[in-house]
Amino acid sequence: MRLSGITPSGHAQLGNYLGAIRRWAADGGERDLYFISDLHAMTTAHNPARLRSLAEETLAALIASGIPAERVFVQSDLTAELGALTWVLECTCTYGEAARMIQFKEKAGGQAGVRLSLLTYPVLMAADILLQGASEVPVGEDQNQHVELARALARRFNSTYGEVFTVPRAVLPLAGARVRDLADPARKMSKSTKDSAGVVFLLDEPELIRRKIRRAVTDSHSIPGYQPDERPGIANLLEILAACTGRAPGDLAGEYPTYGALKEATAEAVVETLRPVRERTTELLTDPAELARIRKEGAARAAERGEHRLSSALRLIGAG
Ligand code: AMP
Repeated sequence: MRLSGITPSGHAQLGNYLGAIRRWAADGGERDLYFISDLHAMTTAHNPARLRSLAEETLAALIASGIPAERVFVQSDLTAELGALTWVLECTCTYGEAARMIQFKEKAGGQAGVRLSLLTYPVLMAADILLQGASEVPVGEDQNQHVELARALARRFNSTYGEVFTVPRAVLPLAGARVRDLADPARKMSKSTKDSAGVVFLLDEPELIRRKIRRAVTDSHSIPGYQPDERPGIANLLEILAACTGRAPGDLAGEYPTYGALKEATAEAVVETLRPVRERTTELLTDPAELARIRKEGAARAAERGEHRLSSALRLIGAG
């Protein structure tokens, strides 16, 4: 079983959808799990009300994209279970192991007021994985070291106190499209980019999507061609159009005589791809009772799935 998370550090964007969410909905295994990792969005300065609303919105977006509700949960609904397991795992982890995490060094380096949770969040991540009994964790390069830590902690706990945890391993995520920022194609489209001119959000109105795509950075050529390294702006548009239409970016390049025509086609394809997701997400957000019901059920299932592992781990380590 695979476990994938999405951190609600901003509004879900087109890259999340084409690169991950859409693949989760279409090709995810029957037992795979998805969670909104809102507790992970608290390791640096955050706004509580905004985080709460982003977590709800992201949950609605995953359900609206077609991921079955029983496979989705919100991390903070398991705060009690995860808090307890994190403590068990912190007592299994060494300070040296946590301090070695490259991401911690990168994010904490030279900063004042670094939250302790920035150091310990990989242990919470291990708790996320080990509580659910996930055997595979699809992650990018930047999270590999954290999955390795979860793996080491599972092994160490099992051999020191008794067999409780499935030992997880990092796997490559299902390959979806890689979407770059429309205003700066050198970087990946991201929900936490401050300037949102080049970021298409799942809930953007069609007119706003068209405007953002019309303003996308291109290059000084005038005829579309697919050369990802030399012409990243145009390649990005072609890749987005390809991901929305199921065609190959190289084939599409010859079909548009001008940049304007390519942008027009890309904008329409994105608008139509996102339309059902936006409409269903908005529908769910305006029905808080239904969303709360879905959320509660997901949380109950996730807690139940991990209950025996948590109680065994607590007993074996000598708690209670
Ligand atoms: P994140 O937004 O970093 O929490 O990532 C959530 C999921 O969306 C991960 O599986 C990422 O690989 C995927 N993702 C995020 N941004 C992009 C992007 N610009 N292009 C493709 N996939 C993306």
